Amino acid sequence: MQDGSAREITYLRLSATSLCNLRCRYCMPAEGAPERPCAEICTIGELSEIARQAAALGIRKVRITGGEPLVRRGIVTLCRDIAALEGVEELCLTTNGTALPQFAAPLRAAGVTRLNVSLDTLRPDRFAHITRTGRIEQVFEGLQAAAAAGFTGTKLNVVLLKGFNEDEIPAFVDLARRYPLEVRFIELMPIGEGVHAGFLPASAVLEACPELEAAGASGSARRYRVPGGMGAVGLIEPLSHRFCHRCDRIRVTADGKLKPCLHSGQEIPLRGLSGGALRDAIRMGIASKPPRHFLPEEGHSGAGRTMNQIGG
Ligand code: SAM
Ligand code: SF4
Repeated sequence: MQDGSAREITYLRLSATSLCNLRCRYCMPAEGAPERPCAEICTIGELSEIARQAAALGIRKVRITGGEPLVRRGIVTLCRDIAALEGVEELCLTTNGTALPQFAAPLRAAGVTRLNVSLDTLRPDRFAHITRTGRIEQVFEGLQAAAAAGFTGTKLNVVLLKGFNEDEIPAFVDLARRYPLEVRFIELMPIGEGVHAGFLPASAVLEACPELEAAGASGSARRYRVPGGMGAVGLIEPLSHRFCHRCDRIRVTADGKLKPCLHSGQEIPLRGLSGGALRDAIRMGIASKPPRHFLPEEGHSGAGRTMNQIGG
């Protein structure tokens, strides 16, 4: 269905949990997300019912995210249920990749179409630093497991962090040259812990790699061809190139709040609703989606939650 600004809303980002096995400095506090009583978090059945009602309103693509979705018990069941929903054409999952050695094959069998794997550095020492707890080998093994399980079109999410990974931009672009991967450079958003990290505009990618050839826009990304390469590069620029006019998404948090816009404090509670009442609440959320966010003007997000609590 269309929102109040005549945008067709076809994409649901559904958070399976706000918990995570890593502690990325720009996303999570050192002590991790506070554990909440199970009763406050949607069950797997509630999450798939939300997706079912959203699909009835025209949602065609669902992305499972978090926190780290692969730490959620029942994640494979959730994926299987959503993949089987009428109307859902694409089921994607965003992960830090560390648990893919165990989960890639079951996720593929459950009907997950495509994966986004987050990786902000290719250097083991930097990875250990930025994630506070992680080992980069697990992500590399996860990417191999994804390919072995039959996943194609995997995207690599790289948050641009000033003073941390700008010198690795050419190495990431080289990955897109050598492998059939889309490397997506994401501008850091001033949300939660992100306000303390260093912002680097996506234009730094074009300065570091002037050979990239513009190839149009796709969803939230401006896309670039890598001459002679197998993959592609995407720039996601919520601050320097606001893409609100192309926004086609809504979000639902693991505790069952519909957020029509990532950067607005507006939340519509969905828990306790079912059938037509649930569908009506989602319809109302879509209709009231704000036309745009005000990150560049205000310098901070109005989300009222951290990224892991929303579903990045
Ligand atoms: N744990 C999974 C992962 O890391 O891919 C999924 C959730 S994570 C919140 C989703 C994406 O949001 C990751 O690519 C992460 O790097 C990104 N992210 C987290 N905080 C961010 C921020 N302040 N600005 C921009 N991207 C952010
Ligand atoms: Fe966890 Fe993803 Fe946040 Fe890193 S970015 S702490 S992996 S939720």
